[in-house]
Amino acid sequence: MIKKTFKDIDVTGKKVFVRVDFNVPQDETGKITDDTRIRAALPTINYLVKQNAKVILCSHLGRPKGVVNEKYSLAPIAERLSELINMKVKMAKDVIGSSAKGLVAEMKEGEIVLLENVRFHAEEEANDEAFAKELASLADVFVNDAFGVAHRAHASNAGIARYIPAVAGFLMDSELIALSNAVNNAEKPLVVILGGAKVSDKINVISSLMSRANTLLIGGAMANTFLVAKGYNIGFSKFEEDRIDVAKSIMEQAESLNVKLVLPVDVVAGNSFAPTAKRKNFTIDKIASDYQALDIGKKTRKLFEKEIKKAKTIIWNGPMGVFEFKKFRKGTLAVAKAVAKSGAVSIVGGGDSVAAIQELGFANKVTHLSTGGGATLKFLEGATLPGVAMLEDKDAPSKTKKSPDFSKIDNKTIAKNSVKKATVSAKPKENAKTTVPSKKVEPKTASLKATTTAKTSASSKTTTASKKSATTKSKTNK
Ligand code: AMP
Repeated sequence: MIKKTFKDIDVTGKKVFVRVDFNVPQDETGKITDDTRIRAALPTINYLVKQNAKVILCSHLGRPKGVVNEKYSLAPIAERLSELINMKVKMAKDVIGSSAKGLVAEMKEGEIVLLENVRFHAEEEANDEAFAKELASLADVFVNDAFGVAHRAHASNAGIARYIPAVAGFLMDSELIALSNAVNNAEKPLVVILGGAKVSDKINVISSLMSRANTLLIGGAMANTFLVAKGYNIGFSKFEEDRIDVAKSIMEQAESLNVKLVLPVDVVAGNSFAPTAKRKNFTIDKIASDYQALDIGKKTRKLFEKEIKKAKTIIWNGPMGVFEFKKFRKGTLAVAKAVAKSGAVSIVGGGDSVAAIQELGFANKVTHLSTGGGATLKFLEGATLPGVAMLEDKDAPSKTKKSPDFSKIDNKTIAKNSVKKATVSAKPKENAKTTVPSKKVEPKTASLKATTTAKTSASSKTTTASKKSATTKSKTNK
């Protein structure tokens, strides 16, 4: 469903409560080390200021767990924001109560007030109704621009929408459009690249995208579980013992759906999990028992680059190796370079993947760098995001009742629902191809329809492969 944005309603002179994601990284002294998230909110803030709205900004920062903790104060953010937009940003001592109300009451048109960390109140994450109502009482309109927390049903991004008209901000809208187009209107071939720590974290994404993708490239530690499922001995590399069957079933599904699933053929391994580890290359059938795979190898880089070159649409989430260690980041950087140079519509999400693109200075060569971690994955899974579901539908008359009422659903229910058991539809690839547009798709809709949900089991465990020396193809490292 396409959602209304702040441009669809009149905000002039109105008090606008904007939920932003200012959860920026800081050093021990509180200094902001990366202000990307603040910058990402500027288009919305600038637009509202220009429209003479009274802009009330709300965010969380870190995990203060429902209590006031100065370490997580938004004061440094107010300062940084002031510098970036070159105007004064007033800071309220609390997100509700007299300090917030008092400052808002004094606001003139075009002014900005930043409320203190909303997670200083436990009611925020509990999506408490009274608290949400209190937040709503500060404003006439709610603009949700915090895509990064859209997968959570909290008071400031979902509950509040029950009481005042709720629309998407610029960042939220652009995330929905880009992700939705990549998932629903992808020009084929669609190449999905997944890496990172665990199969269990991305099983739902794989299941959801399996029926749409032409090629699936798997790297990172999650590839190890597939290698074990294929019977390789992987030294003491990390893998998930309780996901071997899942990996097997994914490989079977890929085969039946005619999806090309490409796994590493070689790895860069270390003799310990450390930046200083001794490094050696191995083909996957010869990984030494005292080494662990920490990156994809040279042949795999070439293999992945070749597939990426063929893509018309790319979705990439997760590093190909331990990106944090300089010695083991070549694979991730190679993929970042190939994606940026591909000329395909490209969507990149996840901290390390985005960092790799940025490090290479290729941010402007990628169609969309997603600001969401968990939210991006949930979207790609086809799950309903509460922070989006609560926004008004584009064609709805203003201030309508939203449906379904996600404000009342707690996060446990959401987590449970989003991993509901369902199998991937065994749609033949040809069918998928008949729906493929022949030209590059321009962003136009933000459909949130889940067409597939995923199959997963309840828990997951990362294991280090045993040091068994067997390298036979039929054995698994159970
Ligand atoms: P994710 O959050 O799922 O994208 O996972 C990112 C994490 O996966 C990073 O911290 C990487 O260090 C880690 N990772 C990627 N490849 C490997 C690997 N081969 N062995 C251990 N950790 C890995």
